[in-house]
Amino acid sequence: MEKQQGHIHPLSRTMDEIVRILAELGFEVALGPEIETEHYNFDALNVPKDHPARDVQDTFWLKPSSLDGSPDRLKGGLGMKGVEQLLLRTHTSPVQVRYMEKHKPPYAIVVPGKVYRYEATDATHETQFHQVEGLVVGENITLAQLKWTLQTFFKKLLGNDVIMRLRPSFFPFVEPGVEVDISCFLCHGKGCGVCKHTGWIEVMGAGMVHPNVLLSGGVDPRKYTGFAFGMGVDRLVMIKYGIEDVRLLYAGDLRLVNQF
Ligand SMILES: [Zn+2]
Repeated sequence: MEKQQGHIHPLSRTMDEIVRILAELGFEVALGPEIETEHYNFDALNVPKDHPARDVQDTFWLKPSSLDGSPDRLKGGLGMKGVEQLLLRTHTSPVQVRYMEKHKPPYAIVVPGKVYRYEATDATHETQFHQVEGLVVGENITLAQLKWTLQTFFKKLLGNDVIMRLRPSFFPFVEPGVEVDISCFLCHGKGCGVCKHTGWIEVMGAGMVHPNVLLSGGVDPRKYTGFAFGMGVDRLVMIKYGIEDVRLLYAGDLRLVNQF
């Protein structure tokens, strides 16, 4: 009888690889809860009260009573003060503030984890997906250091011939904010279906940590600066392995996993 052997799922494999590369660059792994408070997921990250991301159509909100009867250690672990709205975190960024509150700069952390969005599923959207977040805070941290870090990261992940570019963009938690593109590693910039014939693939949002976010974490923005970046891992896996439907990553079909 043929021996059955286990395989590491392409998502886990890519997450591990990303974390390993960033660890080599001096980043320490930090984790946070998937059930979050509105404070850490939005308020502390400078997301305006009327921002569409807070809408019931984008975020899984938990019923206010969800934690009634839960042990106090769970409530304490979430840092809850009184009655607070709970949700499934929509990004890994809450961990930035949670970490800042407990540590004195300088530090560099990498945060891998699951995140959730309330949206219809199709070939490119799932309600659950994976992110890896990076945060560096210290004295005299600059955008140039962010650029070097990301460039070095992508060369280690995808090979030395990958080219990276930054485009100005807006995210409430950074100022200035940038969108990070890499040269398409399938067509090498010539243009193909994956890069929509532009030669570039958008892979990440990043920027200098907004002073309000530093303040939320108890960090003095007059003394310290920082940069942060966040990437969706599922999309990267799909592009890297030529998987056309994100739902396949979660279907538990061994025909997919056995290919890796
Ligand atoms: Zn291409």
